[in-house]
Amino acid sequence: MSSRTPLIAGNWKMHKTGLQAAEAAGQLKRRVEKATDVEVMIAPAFTALYQVARALEGSNIALGAQNLYWEKQGAFTGEVSSEMLVEAGCTHVIIGHSERRSFFGDTDETVNRKIRAALSAGLVPVFCVGETEAQREAGETFSVLDKQVRDGLKDFVFDDLTGLVVAYEPIWAIGTGKTASREQAQEAHQFIRSLLDKLFGNPFASAVRILYGGSVKPNNVRSLMEMPDVDGALVGGASLDPETFSKLVFYNQ
Ligand code: PEP
Repeated sequence: MSSRTPLIAGNWKMHKTGLQAAEAAGQLKRRVEKATDVEVMIAPAFTALYQVARALEGSNIALGAQNLYWEKQGAFTGEVSSEMLVEAGCTHVIIGHSERRSFFGDTDETVNRKIRAALSAGLVPVFCVGETEAQREAGETFSVLDKQVRDGLKDFVFDDLTGLVVAYEPIWAIGTGKTASREQAQEAHQFIRSLLDKLFGNPFASAVRILYGGSVKPNNVRSLMEMPDVDGALVGGASLDPETFSKLVFYNQ
């Protein structure tokens, strides 16, 4: 475990209406109110943000969105800007999730623009990277991560990136029940951190939080969190139920 404050983040994807999300957020708020030395974030669907923000008032849970568009406003049907997210109560935004990359055309270049827009609006970007199963089997994991990180963070200097969170999410482990072993997670996290050190220097690299995502559950979270470069988790399926998610938040008890 590192000295960086861990972040346990839930990605609710396209689950829960506004009412359902507010109800779950209210339950989670009660369950995690005594959590210390850990940050918690949930990212419901856009339509639920406003209601969830109200439900989380007075809590220690941060609100995130699952995506944004980089322009401030304009004729971009179906898109949502960083300013809209801030007004809805968000402090965080997930960027470059593998489902966005594979189903909705996000690329390293658009991810770069989205990270820039998030940071300029004061949002914490949770920047997702990760390899497919075929890439891992072909021994390409590090070259894939290298490209995603370099291109996603292209033209930034370390001062711009304050607050950035990286999430390593091997695509073969997302929603599949296959978790990376803690050694595989540590190896990838260490690779990412040393790349960030090369690109932006040690003060940034040693402070940046790198979350692991991919079938994190109550029975594996602690073992993953014990690894020195694992600073938290980005959780899909197991974040939907407040009782299960709160077990992840209290992973060290
Ligand atoms: C995710 O979608 O970011 C994720 C990690 O999902 P799951 O926990 O369900 O594998």
